[in-house]
Amino acid sequence: MALIAANWKMNKTLNEGITFINELNKNIDDVSGNEILICPPFTLLNEISKIKHENLKIGAQNMYYEESGAFTGEISPLMVKEFCEYVIVGHSERRNLFKEPNQWINKKVLCVVNHGLKPILCIGETEEEKKKKKTNEVLETQLKACLKNVSENQIKQVVFAYEPVWAIGTGKNATPQEAQDAHAFIRGLLTDMYSQTTARPLKILYGGSVTPENAAELIQQKDVDGFLVGGASLNVDSFVEIIKKSKK
Ligand code: PEP
Repeated sequence: MALIAANWKMNKTLNEGITFINELNKNIDDVSGNEILICPPFTLLNEISKIKHENLKIGAQNMYYEESGAFTGEISPLMVKEFCEYVIVGHSERRNLFKEPNQWINKKVLCVVNHGLKPILCIGETEEEKKKKKTNEVLETQLKACLKNVSENQIKQVVFAYEPVWAIGTGKNATPQEAQDAHAFIRGLLTDMYSQTTARPLKILYGGSVTPENAAELIQQKDVDGFLVGGASLNVDSFVEIIKKSKK
């Protein structure tokens, strides 16, 4: 079963979110057979959790690693846990625009799993790093730093997202072969860090300009277990089309 996650980023007012979910609920039979996750802005979590079809899951786009306190503008695991099953951590926009270092992302991964939630840990290289053929080096550095002290038992709760930064919101997706190579490399690292039995069932999503046009070919790749979708998840029709084409 593929996991198809919508990352709405900083988009949709309450009414827009409600309209989307009502429409998606109507299409729920068409999208059965996949795990579907919606990650809306925090302001929509409460309402969406009330109106969504039971087969839809909810995730947060970010979270701080302390339970409470003087952290203006942040949101805690206890707050997220009231509505969400998943939390995106280490998205490249958090890394690049908000300067989140691997060390913080590691703390977030540990905090998310320690609260019984599932992190979607994003890793990926920039265009410059790709040009310098440093993709694998970057993936290894990010993965190892973000998974420091994550036990073999805890890793089973973690979902991975390979999101090449050059592909996010650019309309330039990784080719199926590029995605497969990166995913296989990530699974190989996880095998070395943990074990083959543990690494094989872990989900590695691809993210970066996924559309209804490229989803079918990408999902056919052996190590692509689903998608993290930004732009194309904002429109119900294109999101439903992607899910329909992503049967695994
Ligand atoms: C994302 O933000 O995680 C993403 C993959 O965006 P897009 O699909 O728009 O490239």
